[in-house]
Amino acid sequence: MTDPQWQQGLFTQAAPELGNQYRDDPLLAGWLRRTVPASVLQSLEPEFDELGALAGGDLYRMQLADRLNEPRLTQWDPWGNRVDTLEVTPLWREAERLTVKHGIVATAYEQALGRHARIAQFAKVYLFHPSTDVYSCPLAMTDGAARTLLESGNARLISHALPHLTSRDPGTFWTSGQWMTETTGGSDVGRSQTRAVEESGVWRLYGRKWFTSAVTSQMALTLARPEGNPPGGKGLAMFFVEVRDAQGRLNGIRVDRLKDKLGTRKVPTAELMLEGTRAELVGQPVNGTRAIEPMLGVTRMWNSVCAVAFMRRGLALARAYAARREAFGAPLEKQPLHADTLAALEAETWGAFLMTFLLVELAGRAEAGQIDDQQRALLRLVTPLTKLITGKQAVSVVSEVIESFGGAGYVEDTGLPQLLRDTQVLPIWEGTTNVLSLDALLRSDLHTGLAALMGRASACVRGLKEPRLAAAGKQAIAALERAALWLETGKDREVLQAGARRLALTIARALQLALLCEHAQWLLENGGDRRGYAAAMRFSRLPVDLMHEVDPALDALLLS
Ligand SMILES: Cc1cc2nc3c(=O)[nH]c(=O)nc-3n(C[C@H](O)[C@H](O)[C@H](O)COP(=O)(O)OP(=O)(O)OC[C@H]3O[C@@H](n4cnc5c(N)ncnc54)[C@H](O)[C@@H]3O)c2cc1C
Repeated sequence: MTDPQWQQGLFTQAAPELGNQYRDDPLLAGWLRRTVPASVLQSLEPEFDELGALAGGDLYRMQLADRLNEPRLTQWDPWGNRVDTLEVTPLWREAERLTVKHGIVATAYEQALGRHARIAQFAKVYLFHPSTDVYSCPLAMTDGAARTLLESGNARLISHALPHLTSRDPGTFWTSGQWMTETTGGSDVGRSQTRAVEESGVWRLYGRKWFTSAVTSQMALTLARPEGNPPGGKGLAMFFVEVRDAQGRLNGIRVDRLKDKLGTRKVPTAELMLEGTRAELVGQPVNGTRAIEPMLGVTRMWNSVCAVAFMRRGLALARAYAARREAFGAPLEKQPLHADTLAALEAETWGAFLMTFLLVELAGRAEAGQIDDQQRALLRLVTPLTKLITGKQAVSVVSEVIESFGGAGYVEDTGLPQLLRDTQVLPIWEGTTNVLSLDALLRSDLHTGLAALMGRASACVRGLKEPRLAAAGKQAIAALERAALWLETGKDREVLQAGARRLALTIARALQLALLCEHAQWLLENGGDRRGYAAAMRFSRLPVDLMHEVDPALDALLLS
């Protein structure tokens, strides 16, 4: 059909298109080639390929079509009964089907994959997450709950819940929530007010949980204070809750409302009242914040992977657009300043990816029992560092991606604004940037962790033969040394705390630079791909060492 006359000659911009998100990603493919034995990779690749095709094809189209749908909470039936039923959107239903089919949680628990199980799982998450509107949120908590139960040693709950959480059968698959945050605080969770009362041998919970994502889950791990326990985190205990009974009735839970949020709008994040919720103690009736730590380790890793996946998606779209959109007589990708802008975003994404997948690799080693003390210390420190830096990198990269589309980036039915809104949650939940910076700084094993991190960065740099990479490697080590020196030169607690974010970001950026150099050298020696070299060079020109002294008295004046 020809255009109507008034439309003839009118310019119409072609939309950006996505290809197979596995095949189009040299970073993922190169890193897997370096890290995973060829025979293992060969067995995994057909599924990566399938997920890559889905993520850039049917699932992406479905995501765009699902844009205006949101989960719906029905609190009352027509006859006045309180029902609190939840309906999620078609995209989320499809995401659940694909989760089970591809074992997005289950893969991590497949012992045959040994220490590569986490890598296999998170390569899938990286491909799957950006096209599923944060369905990764319940999956992260499901994975976290599985790991927490395993580490709790509670044999009954392990045999009862784990087969559901790691199921590959749609009929038996469960997701899990983590109900921690209360109105008193998400960071300072020790102030939680929920009470646990033992009534005729059954624990019942009373209180309000203020942010409970994915309340569609079948179970949750939560914190409550057994009566008579002292205040603070030590006085809390971790409980297992089944959300509904066999008839589908809520277990002493009232869903007050769903949050009206900036982003993650497909995630049904609810405010709950626990009104005598039947619960089961997972371990001891104390030390709940410690008991739930494995959950946080896992969800922070998911957060980091989702952050790099969003960066990758943003860049895939921005680069596809830059190849098509013309301005001032050339495609945007040929405009030197536009190319310069995109190159900086690529370098950030490469750095974030390599640090995140180092974390994934270490977690896989730990879970397979193939980790030494150095690696374990490194794992403990890079968990908060990776979560906090990748959250910040993702928001900054995705915000630039929006601008790289000009006005189209601000228009809802391109799907782009949602990408930024969804990304903005990553530095907030699972520990904010400041809280994680303090977590890293104040931990008792900081010095062991830092020594392990320095050891890893030095190993990255030791093998650098390409002179410019070697120079960039030295820059990374110098930044780490300066950070360590800052820590050592007796500072009072206030100065240390005020500088914690700069310290954490400097250590993280220096490690990213060292990892970039290492990977670039490997790529040069194994096939000669120079993109890693370009990423390392570009990253080395971006701010790495963020340490500087500030005067707290002047800041107090500024805020007065
Ligand atoms: C979409 C969404 C879904 C969520 N889902 C869940 C869920 O399923 N389960 C759950 O338990 N929680 C959930 N949360 C809650 C989330 O984990 C918390 O919001 C988060 O941990 C921060 O806690 P808060 O909101 O109480 O902020 P606060 O702890 O009050 O922090 C406010 C600000 O103060 C800063 N701050 C706090 N303490 C310090 C300090 N000592 N030094 C310097 N700065 C500090 C923080 O960095 C932050 O910027 C969700 C949140 C969102 C946005």
